[in-house]
Amino acid sequence: MPYLVREHLFIGNIGDAADILQNGSDEITHILSVLSSTSISFFTEWRSGLVIPTKEIRKVFVGGSGTEDDRNDGSKSSLAPEKQLYSLEYAGKDFKFLRMAVPLRDTESENLLDYLDVCLDFIDKSRTEGSVLVHCFAGVSRSAAIITAYLMKTEQLSQEDALESLRQSCDFVCPNDGFLDQLKLFEEMGFKVDRASPIYKRFRLRVLGDCYNRGEKIDSSKFGADPGLPIEKVSSDVETSGQAEVIPSPAYRCKKCRRVVALQQNVVDHLPGEGETSFQWHKRRSGNPFNKPDDECSSIFVEPLRWMTAVEEGALEGKLLCAHCEARLGYFNWSGIQCSCGSWITPAFQLHKSRVDISAV
Ligand SMILES: [Zn+2]
Ligand SMILES: [Zn+2]
Repeated sequence: MPYLVREHLFIGNIGDAADILQNGSDEITHILSVLSSTSISFFTEWRSGLVIPTKEIRKVFVGGSGTEDDRNDGSKSSLAPEKQLYSLEYAGKDFKFLRMAVPLRDTESENLLDYLDVCLDFIDKSRTEGSVLVHCFAGVSRSAAIITAYLMKTEQLSQEDALESLRQSCDFVCPNDGFLDQLKLFEEMGFKVDRASPIYKRFRLRVLGDCYNRGEKIDSSKFGADPGLPIEKVSSDVETSGQAEVIPSPAYRCKKCRRVVALQQNVVDHLPGEGETSFQWHKRRSGNPFNKPDDECSSIFVEPLRWMTAVEEGALEGKLLCAHCEARLGYFNWSGIQCSCGSWITPAFQLHKSRVDISAV
């Protein structure tokens, strides 16, 4: 039996969802499935003989071609390197239910944040049209994490208070620790997934570091666009066509050849001195307190960018050379680099301030 969390909002497990899809429901009209596979055949694998008819509305991918309308299963993910964000379909007898399926595994390193916007929007919309069941496999971690985020956002609750409130309805819910950390970031970003915030950028970098540590191949599709290439600039112009775009954003250029190597938006900020060692602390204390720039960072740290071909080769660490003149600009190290201010940045893609100039684009 699904548990009622708020008016028109239920939490449950795969059994609850299967029963509703098979036998109908007096109340529930929308289903948000958060399972490792978005395919409805997942239900059949779980309970053989269970057949739930579906009619696909659309599948949405990110990173590549974006929205894909009317694409049938045959041509799917094996060809598409992009990540599937969700699929939307009518499901159940008489196609009575609107089902959104989101691919998410219940592991600590799984990227929950990138799915929150679509899930929370779906819940919101469903509650105005009927009632929604949010379910995962056990109804303990994934669905609970998403409903916790929903309560945080709609009721402006901290992660702890939202989870506590959810436990009033369903006391065994327990999102995994990785999801709890991400919900904390969601709170720090003001109950939204703010992709421009340093919090989100550091998170993305950590996700990439986890991929590297798991031995996954890190290819340039996971990197940021090369700000030094005119072609990529043109394509971004097209997207915002008609607008007087090119908002002058500060750019970092190779000091030697002036090639643009990073934009301000590629920079992953850190708090100076965060995680510093006691040795560093002594060093700072002995400096003149009236003459502070002792702790000025000597480097900037950026997300990996497509010109960093050395990173693609898979080494743990290496030099970052200018793509045009091959001047040494900095280092990268997947296990981290310590900034002159004492902070450890992990993984680190570092540009020495002495090797780059900052200027308007
Ligand atoms: Zn620093
Ligand atoms: Zn150069």
